[in-house]
Amino acid sequence: MRAISNDDDEEIVQAVVSGKMPSYALESKLGDCRRAAGVRREALRRTTGRAMEGLPLDGFDYASILGQCCEMPVGYVQLPVGIAGPLVLDGREYFLPMATTEGCLVASTNRGCKAIGESGGASSVVLREGMTRAPAVRFATARRAAELKFFVEDANNFETLAAVFNRSSRFAGLQEIQCSLAGKNLYMRFSCSTGDAMGMNMVSKGVENVLDYLQNDFPDMNVISISGNFCSDKKAAAVNWIEGRGKSVVCEATIKAEVVEKILKTTVPALVELNILKNLAGSAVAGAMGGFNAHASNIVTAIFIATGQDPAQNVESSHCITMMEAVKDGKDLHISVTMPSMEVGTVGGGTQLPSQAACLDLLGVKGASLESPGANARLLATIVAGAVLAGELSLMSALAAGQLVKSHMKYNRSSKDVSKAAS
Ligand code: NAP
Repeated sequence: MRAISNDDDEEIVQAVVSGKMPSYALESKLGDCRRAAGVRREALRRTTGRAMEGLPLDGFDYASILGQCCEMPVGYVQLPVGIAGPLVLDGREYFLPMATTEGCLVASTNRGCKAIGESGGASSVVLREGMTRAPAVRFATARRAAELKFFVEDANNFETLAAVFNRSSRFAGLQEIQCSLAGKNLYMRFSCSTGDAMGMNMVSKGVENVLDYLQNDFPDMNVISISGNFCSDKKAAAVNWIEGRGKSVVCEATIKAEVVEKILKTTVPALVELNILKNLAGSAVAGAMGGFNAHASNIVTAIFIATGQDPAQNVESSHCITMMEAVKDGKDLHISVTMPSMEVGTVGGGTQLPSQAACLDLLGVKGASLESPGANARLLATIVAGAVLAGELSLMSALAAGQLVKSHMKYNRSSKDVSKAAS
């Protein structure tokens, strides 16, 4: 692989290394994204003495990420995508794309899907949806902060505030503003529908409109930050767990006793007991917040990366409580996952990149839904929840049967790796 191909580039590399040309300006100066990445890569090699041989440079469309997905690229990381499924959900079949380097994960999810399919499938409901952003504003007194709280919470003002909020997007629909005070500081948690977008940019624009508008009646309001962490984005927070953020989804299935025994190699009472002791009591002992599950984050993150979601939002998107109960006279297993803050979109962010769009297409949720804006994003949320259901079922069964370490040794460590680890 040659990072640069001509004498002109040699001069530019030297200018970047010497600091005469900023690395971030290469795309605009050269007007060629692949060339800019090559020059940056060569300048990096000369500066650090590291060639990054294993990181490919060619074979990627750098123009597709410009101004949208990543700045100052020097290559791209390769990740395998495995397919689990079919997942039978709400009467349809889905093949699940999972980008991961954790051996066992796809195989385990696949086993969960098989158990669900052979028991008649899973079903899901989107309970609510609304993306949130909560600016922090400050006043000279707590009394003034309280006055603004009462103003924005007054039902008589909602229509006006919603009209102001909604004007920067065709798809944003303000739902509510929830306020919390800390002395003179006010945190206003705006919640809005966002169509098929995950919605962070959309909601942030709407919030800015409203803050500008409020400044007329509250000129003494000092805007500290468009995000005051009561949102709460990419951080574990009780507000998301309790109030929800993005899509709130519940997914359930009844697994037949014979399927539990033949496919999952365990029993219904063993699973029910393990769920109580691990996912409920064990997580309580750990002081968990939103983590009443076995490994929801594993499945959420793998599908998020494959489908171009914002992977940092796996923090709150993985909040999940897994419930298991013996039903039909104790013979079959009812399992459910309830996930209050799943943040997904099928437009915007990384979803339009070719690989990620291909994975969305496999699920039948690529891009915007023309008939019913928001339907694709809602469907994606239910598919992720269904995949989590499969993952919970399979890992919990492996634990109940005492197979976890054995299967990880088989799928997670090639013989080459084992000899390396031993040396
Ligand atoms: P976006 O790409 O900024 O906005 C979505 C765009 O798609 C809008 O222009 C929207 O039209 C258009 N659109 C077309 N059809 C649509 C449909 N059916 N439903 C919804 N929108 C449709 O996406 P976003 O979800 O708001 O923001 C996602 C990005 O924000 C990601 O890159 C993420 O990493 C990043 N992010 C931002 C923040 C932040 O604080 N700003 C925080 C976390 C992540 P309109 O122009 O009419 O709205």
